[in-house]
Amino acid sequence: MMSPWDLPDFDTHEGVHFFRDEATGLTAIIAIHSTHLGPAAGGTRFWRYADKSEAVTDALRLSRGMSFKNAMAGLPMGGGKGVVLADETVVKTPELLAAFGRAIDSLGGRYITAEDVGMSDQDMVAIQRTTRHVSGLPVGEGAAGGNPGPSTATGVFLGIKAAIARGLGKRSAQGVRVAIQGVGSVGGGVARLLAAEGAILTLADVDAARAESLARELGAETVAADAILRVEADVISPCALGAILDADSIAALRAPIVAGGANNQLKTPAEGDRLTERGILYAPDYVINAGGIINVALEYLGQGDRAEVESRIALIPERLEAIWAEAAETGEAASTVADRMAMRLIGRG
Ligand code: NAD
Repeated sequence: MMSPWDLPDFDTHEGVHFFRDEATGLTAIIAIHSTHLGPAAGGTRFWRYADKSEAVTDALRLSRGMSFKNAMAGLPMGGGKGVVLADETVVKTPELLAAFGRAIDSLGGRYITAEDVGMSDQDMVAIQRTTRHVSGLPVGEGAAGGNPGPSTATGVFLGIKAAIARGLGKRSAQGVRVAIQGVGSVGGGVARLLAAEGAILTLADVDAARAESLARELGAETVAADAILRVEADVISPCALGAILDADSIAALRAPIVAGGANNQLKTPAEGDRLTERGILYAPDYVINAGGIINVALEYLGQGDRAEVESRIALIPERLEAIWAEAAETGEAASTVADRMAMRLIGRG
């Protein structure tokens, strides 16, 4: 068996913690990539993996991404991620979530959780019974915090607008064709914001009924989930799961821009170069999708209100522009430039 230190995605993580609670069936991983800038912040994913090693890989990749994301968003937080392994016998009961809260608490504040795929704000309330190191809790109107999805969607929308300004010379999304993969919390929000500005949308979700119902509401088209990355469009917006950009899918893209909210869109770093070789403008995922963590980090830190969250999200386009400008100058991939900037910020440059 390969030792954890030899896994390709192990990147001198400060700690990778494994938890098991027999009484509730909890099997969980908390990966702390870096606490250089502050406590490691990042959501928890509740997901059914093909096997446990896939879950470890996901935790390693996602926690590193959070270090980069938090650093690039200017937050005083390091990067970490929780993964709770689901299967047919594991039910997300309040007891299981309380056990996960105890796991978080055992790390003494080095890791702070929030929602990710498969977790809701009510789940955060259940986790709060056993730890205070949790954010993304329901909050009152005008306050920072709560479900990060809408904030992420706002940042992705602004990032798409920055991409169409740079790539297509358009100041508005009016008439711009955007294909969205995954219309959950983030993709659904992005779709609504784009539709309000007159974009022409194509939607896809593995939950076809979900895509159909949103398409009816917004006057959009739908395609099968396995066809969305090949749709002819101005922008492809991946808002489902990661590793969807590989040699084959990049070769088949028929859009000049890829800008979406999903984490870890590039299967390997080489995919960044493949996009550049095809002349495709790519918005590095952890830069464009930082809206949600900005929201929950300010909630946890008790700093600022909704207006402060919005004004920090509004800085996402200029971060993207700085990356694209440097990439254009050096001929490197946007993802390579972003990684270098982030590494420097977390003291590893
Ligand atoms: P979600 O569970 O609300 O929605 C995801 C949607 O994608 C679901 O409707 C699901 O059916 C669909 N989906 C899954 N696989 C698909 C596929 N192969 N093709 C098409 N659709 C597919 O999750 P979310 O919170 O919207 O997160 C989406 C992505 O954005 C994830 O990668 C997540 O890590 C990332 N992200 C989310 C946030 C946030 O604030 N929620 C923040 C940053 C990044």
